[in-house]
Amino acid sequence: MRAARLHAAEEPLRLDDVPMPEPAGTEVRIRVGACGICHTDLHIVEGTQTRVELPITLGHEVAGWIDAAGPVAEPVLRRLRLAVGDAVIVFGGWGCGTCRECQGGAEQRCPTSRAPGFQADGGYAEMMLVPHPRHLVGLRSLDPVRAAPLADAGITPYRAVRRASPWLVPGARVLLIGCGALGAFALQYLRLLPDAGADLLLAVRELDPARLERASEVGADIGLLNGDPAMTRELIGGAADVVMDFVGNNDTLAHAAAVVAPDGLVLLVGEAGGRLPFGFASPPVESWLTTVAWGSRDDLRDVVRLAARGRLRWEVEPVPLDDVVAAHDRLRSGAVDGRLVLVP
Ligand SMILES: [Zn+2]
Ligand SMILES: [Zn+2]
Repeated sequence: MRAARLHAAEEPLRLDDVPMPEPAGTEVRIRVGACGICHTDLHIVEGTQTRVELPITLGHEVAGWIDAAGPVAEPVLRRLRLAVGDAVIVFGGWGCGTCRECQGGAEQRCPTSRAPGFQADGGYAEMMLVPHPRHLVGLRSLDPVRAAPLADAGITPYRAVRRASPWLVPGARVLLIGCGALGAFALQYLRLLPDAGADLLLAVRELDPARLERASEVGADIGLLNGDPAMTRELIGGAADVVMDFVGNNDTLAHAAAVVAPDGLVLLVGEAGGRLPFGFASPPVESWLTTVAWGSRDDLRDVVRLAARGRLRWEVEPVPLDDVVAAHDRLRSGAVDGRLVLVP
């Protein structure tokens, strides 16, 4: 079968002919319907992402159909009410299953996790192996090609909003920095919050006017085309209670620290590798800083439920697997509207 593999950092991906993976034990083989292309994939190719084992088939945003199961996986699938042929989305936080993080429902934080596209072969391929049926979530009525981005672009902002919930009270000022696929999901989750959603002030800071336009269609009140921190504060009427940084470079983090309120929250989501000095001088006293890394299996279930009920809007642009290198170039140049998904 064909798989797009990275053999060495800073080299183009190669379309290799690799043996069909055979599921053993608890493993399940997925026929890939589509695999989303994430900015993190670009960082992996550039060699700036840590904990990557080469050579590897990229891809951590996968949906498709159950194709075959190892002997131990079969009864587990039945208990999960899943069967060969069912449409599923793949949860990518493949942890050890036994440590405190895994047992506590945050398997994506497992210190020894082996995630698809990072340490295990991922979904830039016709088929992929998933180590255990617990990583599969049934897609209900959703089409795998359309659903694939939910596995990462969908759940990461969901988790960010969930982690910010103590700050998300009526009247809170929320600033999103960068509004690609993840930011657009975040705006929708914020508006869907039952108590405060309608009463949040949602501002988006972007370099791309077209993205600002789309942000306003999914719930943003204010669009900021770049600008310095003083301009941001003026336009949103004060300091921000919550800043979600979906870019994560030195400039965006500095902006976040300069506009967040004392006791406010900065969530770093984007993995552009930025750093932020931390001390009493800055960020503001008693503000809170946290990263958001992917989502949990429960986050994925929640997001699939919302999507299946028609509560979320998102766009995908299917691209043939053969065109993976050109697709990466397009994402790098920013010439992408919806999420690019590779279709084998
Ligand atoms: Zn990703
Ligand atoms: Zn673990």
